[in-house]
Amino acid sequence: MPHASSYPPIDIPNVDLWSLVFDSHGRYGHFPKTKEIMTDAETGRTYSWADLHSGSVEFGQGLQAVWQWKKGDVLAMYTPNSIDTAIITLGAIWAGGIVSPANPLYTADELAFQLRDSGAKALVTQTAFLDTAVNAASKAGIPTDRIILIGDGRDPTGRFRHFSAIRPDFSGGRQYEKPAVDPERDLVFLVYSSGTTGLPKGVCLTHRNLAANTAQAEYLEGCHWQSTGGIDGKGDKLLGVLPFFHIYGLMCVMLMSIVKGVQVIVMARFDLEKALQAIQDYRISIVYIPPPVVLALGKLPAVDKYDLTSLRILHSGAAPLTRELTEAVWNRLKVPVKQGFGLSETSPVTHSQQLHEWAMFMGSIGKLVPNMEAKIVNEAGEEVGDDEAGELWLKGPNVFVGYLNSPERTAEAFSADGYFKTGDICRRDAKGNYYVVDRLKELIKYKGFPVPPAELEGILVSHPDITDACVIGVQDHAQATEVPLAFVVLRPGVAGTPEKGGELAAWLAERVAPHKRLRGGVRFVDVIPKSASGKILRRLVRDQMAREERSG
Ligand code: AMP
Repeated sequence: MPHASSYPPIDIPNVDLWSLVFDSHGRYGHFPKTKEIMTDAETGRTYSWADLHSGSVEFGQGLQAVWQWKKGDVLAMYTPNSIDTAIITLGAIWAGGIVSPANPLYTADELAFQLRDSGAKALVTQTAFLDTAVNAASKAGIPTDRIILIGDGRDPTGRFRHFSAIRPDFSGGRQYEKPAVDPERDLVFLVYSSGTTGLPKGVCLTHRNLAANTAQAEYLEGCHWQSTGGIDGKGDKLLGVLPFFHIYGLMCVMLMSIVKGVQVIVMARFDLEKALQAIQDYRISIVYIPPPVVLALGKLPAVDKYDLTSLRILHSGAAPLTRELTEAVWNRLKVPVKQGFGLSETSPVTHSQQLHEWAMFMGSIGKLVPNMEAKIVNEAGEEVGDDEAGELWLKGPNVFVGYLNSPERTAEAFSADGYFKTGDICRRDAKGNYYVVDRLKELIKYKGFPVPPAELEGILVSHPDITDACVIGVQDHAQATEVPLAFVVLRPGVAGTPEKGGELAAWLAERVAPHKRLRGGVRFVDVIPKSASGKILRRLVRDQMAREERSG
C-alpha cells in the first residue's frame, strides 16, 4: 500500500500564483502591508510588501503595453539574485507569462539552448552579464531590444532598457487586465532539469503545482517563520543566499517570504565572509543552505569572528547532508540543522523535517508533505517494506505536468499508476521519516547545482582526441559535495598522460558553466561499458570506482 502523508490534508487555494502570493495577504502570516520584505544585503535597498505588489502589477502592465504580452509568453531570467527578481517574476506572472530562470554563469551556448527550447520572448539580465546575454539572445533569435536590465546598473548607451522604464501607458484611457488563468493547466514556471537521464529538459510547472507547494511547504516549514516578534519585533529575518534561478530558492525563499511576510536579506552570490557579516549585521535568524555551506559553518575558522547568536534555524536541502555535519554545526553554534528534500519536478518540496525532529531523526529528510502519497519500490516496481531501500515514487498536486515537447520522456517519468519516478533511492522508517540512501539516476549535484553527465559526455566526444566518454559523480568529502569525474577513451595513438587529462579538463571548462567543470579529474580507459542498446552502464563504472577506492 502506498503511504499517504502522515499529516492531514490541507486546503489548496484554486487560484493563480500571483493571487496566491498577494491576494492571500494575512492568510499565512499577519503583518502590515508596509512591512519591508526584500532587502539588498550590500546596499540596503528595500521593497516593502506593498512595493512588491504595486511594482509587479506595474511591470506586468508594462509588458502588455510595450510588447503586447500575452498569456503563455515566456520571460527568461539570466541574473544573480536581486531584490528586483521578485518584481519581474511576479510581474510577468501577473501578465499571464511563464518564467524560465537560467543560471547566470551559463555560457552563451548553454543559455541559448534554454532560450530556444523554452521559446523565450524576452530576457532579463544585469549589466555585468550583458555580453553573454546578447550573444545568447542573438543565437536564439531574440531581438536585442527585448533584453531587460534589473539591478543598480544602467546601460550608458541606452540600448537596453531598465525594467523601471517598462511601464504602462494610460493615455487615451487604455486599460490593462490580468488574464484569466486555469490553475490546473496554465504554466507558471519552466525550469530546466535533466530528470533521470539525458540532456536538460523544460519541467512544466502549473499555477496549481506552485499554489499547492506553497501551501504544503508552509505547513511544514513556513510554520516556523514568524512575521512579528523576535529580536526587534519585526519577526524572523532570512538570508536570501540560495539562488532564485533554482526552484529551491525561488519557491522556498523568494516566494515564501512574500507569502509569510518575513524579511529576506538578498545576496547576489554566496561568499562566506559576506554571508556571516550579513547574519551579524541584520540579526538574521533563518538560513536555507546546501550541505557545503553547512560544512563551512561547522568547520571553517572564519565563523568564529562573527556574532551569530541571532541564528535560530538552519535548513539544508538540494543534496545529501551527513549526520556528522549536522552535529558539527550544533556543537559549534548550538543551532539546529533541519533537512528537506525535493526536486524541480515537484515544485520542489516533498519532504521536510519539523524543528523538533532534527535531533530525533538526524539524517532524515523528514516526513512527506500533506496531500502527497509515496511508494518505495524495488526494480520490479513492487513496494518494499519499512526500512528497506528502493526507488521513491511520488504522487500529489505539486507534481509537474510533463517535460516540454517531450511526450516520450514524460511517459518514461511516470509509472502506469501515475506515480512520478524520482530516480532517488530512499528508505522510510515505521514513523514515516524518509532517508536518502543513493541515487539511481545519472544526475550529479555539485554544491547543490545540477550537473547532467550526458551534457558533458556530448561535449567531450566532440573533442577530436576523444572517441567515447562517461561522466560520473564522486564524493569530495573535504567539501561535502559530489564532483564530476570523466572516463575517457582516447583516439588510437594519443597518450593518456596526466598532462593530457589536465588539457581536456581545461578544454571542457571553457565550454560549460563553472559548476560543471571536471573537478573530479579525467581518467583514461580502453572502453566504456555499455548495454546491448548502447546505454552507458554507469553503475558498473561507479562500482568499479568504489572497488578501486576500497583497495586504496
Ligand atoms: P533538482 O531538480 O535540481 O532540485 O534536483 C533534485 C535532486 O536533488 C533530487 O532528485 C535528489 O537527487 C537531490 N536532492 C535534493 N534534496 C536532497 C537531500 N536533502 N538529500 C539528498 N539529495 C537531495
